[in-house]
Amino acid sequence: MGPYQIGIAGAGVAGLALAAFLARAGHRVVVFDKLQAPQPLGSGLILQPVGRQVLAKLGVAAEIEDLGAPIAHLFGKAAPRDRVVLDVRYRGSSRARMGLGVHRGALFNALLQAARRSGAAFEAQAEIAETDDRRFVFVDGRRSPGFDLLVDALGVRSPLADGRRRALPYGALWASLDWPASGGFDDRALEQRYVAARKMVGVMPIGRLDSSLQAQAAFFWSLKSDDFPAWRAAPLEAWKAEVLTLWPQTQPLLEKIGSHDDLVYARYAHGASLRPVRGRLASIGDSWHCASPQLGQGANLALLDAWAFAEALRRQPNLEVALNEYVRMRALHLWIYQSVSVLFTPLYQSDANALAAIRDHVAAPLARIWPAPLVLAGLVAGAWGDPLSAIVKGSRHA
Ligand SMILES: Cc1cc2nc3c(=O)[nH]c(=O)nc-3n(C[C@H](O)[C@H](O)[C@H](O)COP(=O)(O)OP(=O)(O)OC[C@H]3O[C@@H](n4cnc5c(N)ncnc54)[C@H](O)[C@@H]3O)c2cc1C
Repeated sequence: MGPYQIGIAGAGVAGLALAAFLARAGHRVVVFDKLQAPQPLGSGLILQPVGRQVLAKLGVAAEIEDLGAPIAHLFGKAAPRDRVVLDVRYRGSSRARMGLGVHRGALFNALLQAARRSGAAFEAQAEIAETDDRRFVFVDGRRSPGFDLLVDALGVRSPLADGRRRALPYGALWASLDWPASGGFDDRALEQRYVAARKMVGVMPIGRLDSSLQAQAAFFWSLKSDDFPAWRAAPLEAWKAEVLTLWPQTQPLLEKIGSHDDLVYARYAHGASLRPVRGRLASIGDSWHCASPQLGQGANLALLDAWAFAEALRRQPNLEVALNEYVRMRALHLWIYQSVSVLFTPLYQSDANALAAIRDHVAAPLARIWPAPLVLAGLVAGAWGDPLSAIVKGSRHA
């Protein structure tokens, strides 16, 4: 129904996708972000098949497919014996059924253009502190105009989110680096090397930021938040030597890292809001639910949230009913991926040797026995809980 005046806080994956959907449906949408110019932060990510279905609805799938790099295989070996402990293949050989490594900037640019084309307006340098009735209140005390509906898409550290977020002990250093001509990396795989669950280095193809630029890799190194200051203070060469000991083939990538500033430290958190809708304020994306990126699902979940939100509003004349329906359509899928993330993350990022041993000696062998490979392929593809049907079927109940 509507058209409504909708204020969206945050120009990230969730906010931009939602702005594109809602402005296209005829609502008057304004997106606020604290950044001077909307811009992406971080390196690359894997877009799963379910998330790319949403990009197709926004008309940007072809552009992203063209820039991204197909990922057919998730593969990891543990030191000291090079035991294979992660070996998951996407089901099927078509690109559409694989993961797609993308540069965060490429995804951001495509979503921003889609939102602009649909008629969404943007206000930059607008750091939001709180809400007051149906207005955003900025840190400098200004207030936005009043809206029929406010959307919190401020990400993992949203000041508007309710519920508790648990900071995870481990995060990671990330960099986007030109794909190395030498090194023998598989350009269709996310590859990792581990020492128990305490150390992890990974390389993943992320394609190109735009068509005139070279293909890149996301390089990441697992690091505890408590150890970040010591890492910053120590000589970079000492850290490089540690990485090389674990995975000598990373030499050509490490050569491109000249200073600590070439790596961005990402802190991870886990949690979900129990009340993603509070009156006329609704949460979407990481501000509703956040998890470690180990399963590579956060952007997909955000895209699915955006589509579900827009579908609910399209279908339900009553705004309150529509918002409740949005939450209902997403609940099962989010619960599954939040739960699995809680179970899996410590197997790859923790101090507990026992958990790494379970990963290496129990989980990895079991994962090779049929039907586990099929089940795991569905998990990484974002398909557990059949999120697309949940949104489409919701529409049929209208
Ligand atoms: C290192 C790393 C790797 C990841 N890898 C993957 C992956 O492989 N696959 C995957 O699907 N997901 C991955 N994710 C998760 C994914 O990036 C997030 O789930 C996704 O970006 C969430 O989108 P969002 O729009 O909710 O939040 P964000 O993309 O974080 O956007 C939030 C926006 O709000 C703005 N903002 C924040 N606070 C304020 C404020 N107070 N006032 C105004 N504006 C504000 C920010 O500037 C930003 O533009 C990864 C995340 C990290 C950190």
